[in-house]
Amino acid sequence: MTPLFEQEGEAFRCQACAHRCLVREGRAGACWVRRIQDGRVVIPWEEVSSLALDPMEKKPLFHFHPGKSVLSFGTLGCNLHCPFCQNWTISQAGRDPRAERTGKPISAQDIVLIAQQQNARAIASTYNEPLVSLEWTAEIFRLAKEAGLATVAVSNGCATERAVECLAPVMDAANLDLKSGTEQGYRQLGGDLHAVQETIRELHRRGTWLELTTLIVPNYNDSDAELSSIAEFIASVSPDIPWHISSYFSTYRMPPIPARTPPERLETAWRIGRAAGLHFVFTGNLHNGAQREDTFCPDCGELLLRRDAFRILQNHLDHGTCPACHAKIPGVWG
Ligand code: SF4
Repeated sequence: MTPLFEQEGEAFRCQACAHRCLVREGRAGACWVRRIQDGRVVIPWEEVSSLALDPMEKKPLFHFHPGKSVLSFGTLGCNLHCPFCQNWTISQAGRDPRAERTGKPISAQDIVLIAQQQNARAIASTYNEPLVSLEWTAEIFRLAKEAGLATVAVSNGCATERAVECLAPVMDAANLDLKSGTEQGYRQLGGDLHAVQETIRELHRRGTWLELTTLIVPNYNDSDAELSSIAEFIASVSPDIPWHISSYFSTYRMPPIPARTPPERLETAWRIGRAAGLHFVFTGNLHNGAQREDTFCPDCGELLLRRDAFRILQNHLDHGTCPACHAKIPGVWG
């Protein structure tokens, strides 16, 4: 597909993410990977930083083909520069000299073939930001869907309408980060809360299966007020959107103390999500016996899916409905 750039005089305006960088000859955009060279647009194409078979639950997607595997690929680069990035060695390529510089060549066709050989149910663009490789990601998704595979993006959602228009027709599900409830919080990361919220609204409106993730970072986004504002926004789009609240551990540019999110904060975030009216709130790595990774029927409270980390221990769903009260459970169950 044609790269998502528009010529403005001698420069090119990128339309892949909310930065909308005006990129001049010999320079790159704020993601450091989309550039103009010799008068031509250069974008990530036929190169991965990583390729691995993951459980769907690791994306995390809990209400999308549970228990199935997904062939996951990442490229290099990101439009944000989060100091707590857990994949910074690939996401900060170009921006941070310590990050990786090159990937491994592979074609879109070969990625689809590997997914089929490994019995994956889906292909996911993940590990780094799919928006910086938007055109190639869309091409892989198109081929994957032709081959009968589902497609998934794990993104920060700091997109443009044009990017959503490009990806949504070939994308079945997304897990988007909702990293902060404030514009100021997003500015610290080089992002834009309004753009992320618009992406969430638009993908939901288009019927893409959506789950959202907030990494709970101490002293950054873990106040009750901020967690409430995040949860209330999600509920305003739909209380059926699953919210994953995950545990942070100190990495990259963050101070070593605190080393991780206190478990009580995750528990508080879970309660705030439920109080905001969200039907499905999940915590990662919280082993307190409170079944915070399980899905219960929002109508009658029946246990529907029991999980442990990325494994499905029990699945009681009856063709996507609750076996006790027959309520239809939101999700894509396969
Ligand atoms: S993807 Fe975003 S950061 Fe990268 S060049 Fe395009 S607008 Fe700029």
